[in-house]
Amino acid sequence: MRQVKVLLNEDEIPRQWYNIMADMPTPMSPPLHPGTGQPLRPEDMAPIFPMNLIEQEMSAERWIDIPEEVLEKYMLWRPSPLYRAYNLEKLLDAPVKIYYKNEGVSPAGSHKPNTAVAQAYYNKAFGIKKISTETGAGQWGSALSMACNMFGLECRVFMVRVSYDQKPYRRMMMETWGAKCFPSPSNITETGRKILAQNPDSPGSLGMAISEAIEDAVGKEDSRYSLGSVLNHVLLHQTIIGLEAQKQLEKIGEYPDVVIGCAGGGSNFAGIALPFARDKIHGKEVSIVAAEPTSCPTLTKAPFGYDFGDLAMTTPLLAMYSLGHDFVPAPIHAGGLRYHGMAPIVSHLVKEGLVEARSYHQLETFEAGIQWARSEAFIPAPETNHAIAAVIQEARRAKEEGKEKVILFNWSGHGLVDLASYDAYLSGKLTDYRLPDDEIERAKKTLGQFPKP
Ligand SMILES: *Cc1c(COP(=O)(O)O)cnc(C)c1O
Repeated sequence: MRQVKVLLNEDEIPRQWYNIMADMPTPMSPPLHPGTGQPLRPEDMAPIFPMNLIEQEMSAERWIDIPEEVLEKYMLWRPSPLYRAYNLEKLLDAPVKIYYKNEGVSPAGSHKPNTAVAQAYYNKAFGIKKISTETGAGQWGSALSMACNMFGLECRVFMVRVSYDQKPYRRMMMETWGAKCFPSPSNITETGRKILAQNPDSPGSLGMAISEAIEDAVGKEDSRYSLGSVLNHVLLHQTIIGLEAQKQLEKIGEYPDVVIGCAGGGSNFAGIALPFARDKIHGKEVSIVAAEPTSCPTLTKAPFGYDFGDLAMTTPLLAMYSLGHDFVPAPIHAGGLRYHGMAPIVSHLVKEGLVEARSYHQLETFEAGIQWARSEAFIPAPETNHAIAAVIQEARRAKEEGKEKVILFNWSGHGLVDLASYDAYLSGKLTDYRLPDDEIERAKKTLGQFPKP
């Protein structure tokens, strides 16, 4: 019988995360203090994050031990299975083998708990009692709610107003796990009250919600803020995905020609890609592809420079590809990919030519998701559909070139809480969005205001 899944035993789970900072072939531009423009010092971030996570954020150690308490929680769904997508291969009739890591098996349904659990653990270990965060469609908010509940922490989530009103199910998940979820803008922060005074019907945005969550967290001894993507320590925690995949592929004597992930803030892509990027830096031949939406083309079109992570300009300045911190993305259904910036690590790898970025239209991604659901059966998240679109494109190319290829990708999450977007697609209500060129000119001007990396 053919083997569909490659599983690792629990005792085969990787016990360390991989930190690519130890292997970067060229130095990265450091984050800068938002006020002084000087390189950020650990103590500058102390009001926002616990010091143990700040140390990880700035670490250059190649391997970082995963605490026993975190491994214990990971065991609820990890090691995640590596699947071979035989049915899609057959449908595409191309000379490719398609392998994928199924991160949809976590309790929250995506890769996000890999870092949520670690962040909750380190906050708890530092004596923190309350964590505040923001969420768009609710994937991050639900993952952190689950993780906080596991470690007995209070969790406060500022959820973008439109999503709060239109997408109630992830709010219900958050509340089921014991978190408090507020529509943002809210009347519990100064930032929120100011916005509401000007516009009581403000639909909110991720930038506003980040500013609210930071304000809610800082200035209190026992509370901190948490971010679900972009930062070095978040990407670090996600490398468990790629490290497991390497062990699984080794078991069956395979190595990928192409590694693919979708990229919003860059965390799930980095999770699968960074261990392979390490091999590539050391001479291995492997292409690594990040897939993003044409409506929010951070890696494929935006300028590289210093920019803020939030609208209110409270975060450190990060060296990254960015559409501008005040960019308002089109209302595509892949909510997790609607972020103006990109993880500095992923940005740097693209700039150095180690990672290739491609963009996909919304309709093409849903077409890919439907093909997947009708061959491999699992219904993917709208974000994941971008990775699947890249896989299908790669398979078609292999067929045209008559070349055999082994493809590995990250199936970042299931779409069972996003069925309304499938409904919209199937009833012909979805459209494509292409970003107008003047938005790129605008981004260049915004980034031009800050020091050059
Ligand atoms: C949040 C999310 C993403 C995008 O976030 P990254 O940090 O870029 O990984 C992708 N897929 C799913 C299922 C998500 O929930």
